[in-house]
Amino acid sequence: MQAGNSVLRISIVTPAYNESKNLPIFFDRLDAVFARLSADWEWLVIDDHSSDDSLRVLSALAEQHSNIRALRFSRNCGSHLAVTCGLREARGECAVVMAADLQDPPETIPNLIDKWRAGAQVVWAVRAAREGENAVTLAFSSFYYWIMRRFVGFEEMPPKGADFFLLDRRVLSAFGEFNETNASITNLILWMGFPQDSITYEKQARVHGQSKWNAEKKLKLVVDSVTAFSYKPIRYMSYAGFVIAILGFLYAIDVVANAFRGHPIEGWTSLMVVVLVLGGFQMLMMGILGEYLWRTLDEARRRPRYLIEARFGKGLHSHWTKDVFMNEPRPI
Ligand code: UDP
Ligand code: MG
Repeated sequence: MQAGNSVLRISIVTPAYNESKNLPIFFDRLDAVFARLSADWEWLVIDDHSSDDSLRVLSALAEQHSNIRALRFSRNCGSHLAVTCGLREARGECAVVMAADLQDPPETIPNLIDKWRAGAQVVWAVRAAREGENAVTLAFSSFYYWIMRRFVGFEEMPPKGADFFLLDRRVLSAFGEFNETNASITNLILWMGFPQDSITYEKQARVHGQSKWNAEKKLKLVVDSVTAFSYKPIRYMSYAGFVIAILGFLYAIDVVANAFRGHPIEGWTSLMVVVLVLGGFQMLMMGILGEYLWRTLDEARRRPRYLIEARFGKGLHSHWTKDVFMNEPRPI
């Protein structure tokens, strides 16, 4: 829903976990960018239960600036759920999702808006370069995007990924229909369709603090991303089971025939090879089934995905009245 020549209303959605030093700098840079745009904006910060003094910093900022709204989760739920919450709460005609660590420069926002005004309803900021990342992080990232493009089948996914994007109000409304707990947001949005476009930007080094992605979280993201969009692991498991069953059957014929001919196959080595190979395969297959089963159970429980401990901010701009929005954010 573009607003022609009238003033645009833009929401900036930021998940934040222990980013108290970055938040004030982020606000100042956003403020400088919007001072040059004819747009009205709100900054929606989702504090993912930070343990530093983010709460105090945010409430002080929200006290000073009426266009800041902040919500605090009751427990740490991860950045994808923080962004989910922010997108459901956003009231703008479009929303831009940006991390709080200034790796995604606010100065890129006008380029995203230009593409949106040209008709795109999803605009990705695609990384042209990444500063300040080590070789292991870059290798994992290439592996992840390769899996998503080649194995899961998201051909349109940028090879170096994109975690900074703009969504039109229509996409925000559609996104509100989703209730998945474990899916990665970028993958969901790629999957949703709508007219999508991209710009490139240089991912910057973090200003303060460290990345919160450890090896365990990264592994969970890979398994979540594959299980949420692909049944291929189960399909390949069936193929492997079929091939192993045929081979086992042929081997069994050979063993029995040899026994009848009076030359039983000797011993320990062949037995151990069969037991270990089959045992290993079975455990792997049960593990894959378990990953799908656990996620089915997780979704079936229908627990709230996040709980809000506190909300602060002076509320919406007075002229951001309810009737201009196609869809009100629903209760969680
Ligand atoms: N974040 C969050 N919850 C978490 C971990 C991270 O809300 O449990 C936020 C974090 O504060 C940042 C964004 O998600 O604004 C991206 O996180 P990070 O910079 O650690 O990820 P990376 O840039 O390494 O992908
Ligand atoms: Mg970061």
